[in-house]
Amino acid sequence: MFETGRMLLTDELLFRYKRCRRRTFLDVYGNVTCRQEKDFLGILREERELHNQKVLQYYNLKVEQPRLWGERDNKKLAAITTQLMSQGVDGIYQGVISVDILDKDGDRVTLMASPTLLVKQNIPSRWGDWSYFPVNASLGKNPKPEYKLILAFVVDILNRIQGISLSRGEILLKDNSSPHQVDLAIWLPRAQELVNECLEMLKTKEIPDVYISRQRCGFCPWYDDCYQVAKSSLHLSLIPGITPNRYELLVSNGIHNLETVCQTPLSRLQEILACEKEVATRIKQQSISLLSGKPILRQPNLLPLPQSSVEIYFDIEADTRRNVDYLLGVLWVDHDNMIQEYRTFLAKSPGEEKSIWRDFLHFIQKYPHAPIFHYSEYEVETVKRLASLYNTPASQLQSLLSRLFDLHRILTHSFFLPVENYSLKSVANYLGFHWRNPKTGNNSYNPTSIGGDQCIVWYDQWLKTGDSFWLDCIKIYNEDDCLATYHLKQWMADFQ
Ligand code: SF4
Repeated sequence: MFETGRMLLTDELLFRYKRCRRRTFLDVYGNVTCRQEKDFLGILREERELHNQKVLQYYNLKVEQPRLWGERDNKKLAAITTQLMSQGVDGIYQGVISVDILDKDGDRVTLMASPTLLVKQNIPSRWGDWSYFPVNASLGKNPKPEYKLILAFVVDILNRIQGISLSRGEILLKDNSSPHQVDLAIWLPRAQELVNECLEMLKTKEIPDVYISRQRCGFCPWYDDCYQVAKSSLHLSLIPGITPNRYELLVSNGIHNLETVCQTPLSRLQEILACEKEVATRIKQQSISLLSGKPILRQPNLLPLPQSSVEIYFDIEADTRRNVDYLLGVLWVDHDNMIQEYRTFLAKSPGEEKSIWRDFLHFIQKYPHAPIFHYSEYEVETVKRLASLYNTPASQLQSLLSRLFDLHRILTHSFFLPVENYSLKSVANYLGFHWRNPKTGNNSYNPTSIGGDQCIVWYDQWLKTGDSFWLDCIKIYNEDDCLATYHLKQWMADFQ
């Protein structure tokens, strides 16, 4: 990102740099045609907007918001924000602040940020008897270092503009009722250090190494690009169990990819990672499985897998934003009569959660001896949550819990599979199961484009538009999750 040949560093770029240096590099120099924005970001934007409104309510100020007709022009918005500050308005919502500095090589750089709120205080500055301190809204639950660094970056710009040294800067987190005060004596020097590092990386134009992390890369628009790079280089981050710390240890000891992990003796691996033999064995076995493309038995004795003439496969869709489990999907399989049927218990509005829970219980009770298979802990947690919320008798809950079998637990106890993570998508995909594209019905599964978060987007579309197309998309997706769980169970049963 350059402005008339001058480098521009924004709070957004710096925030991303803190999380992934490669992301900032690609945002500045990457080929935009390779970017793929995720629909779920729209939901996050709405959530941010709602949270911003809470911040405004908390400070309860008469605020001005710099606006322009037509295209967003940050330079003009910065000029309007400066004008509002000089006029001494009480608060400025979503203003833009910007300052030109010389970096350590003497090159001109523009620093720019958009704090959620600028609040007037009675401390003199170049404007007069007043100045402004910043407040940033954040959707996180904890005041993470990256939030504090960005707030300190904003303070640094404000200090330069106002000609003072602020001692106050606040972050309002999503679930907190009062703001978090950032200790600027600690975080200002760190933010300045981060700015220098980031500018240096951008100037050298050397792309930072890829590192695939499920949490960090999930919503990144460069995921497809990075994944291809990681895959073709047999990157260490694709091995389940390799944390950033372990990655650094391996690389600094000359172990750069999957192949070299497989070639390294177990004792050496254990020494490098300074870990238990069991951990080193797991990493090595996992790597061998990935490189060979074959499953490996982890234990001589597999955990028991119940068999019954009638079985149920269970999967839930939830809207975390509205705190509702809106779809309880079941695949009912009658092996003796070779019948299978997919049933949904669907809350068309969040208020219907109680009635779908009651209907689900009623259905499940009709088959008291059928084991209920699911994948991951979420189903157990949700059953407990719904039972507690809607006063389900303890005996009924216990009976239901005793019939739940978590295939994820059984699988990871028994096998190493040649997969990069043990999500249902990766595992079932490896076993030859393909999700349909719910929008077209075609078998065109793309693990990064469709997931539980996509269902949240569709449920949101349904609630906003009332178009049942979105409910159909969710049902197709959920049915495939149930079918994939069934596919996995069959594979494990055959193996046994
Ligand atoms: S996909 Fe991951 S490694 Fe690549 S830029 Fe995004 S966050 Fe960084």
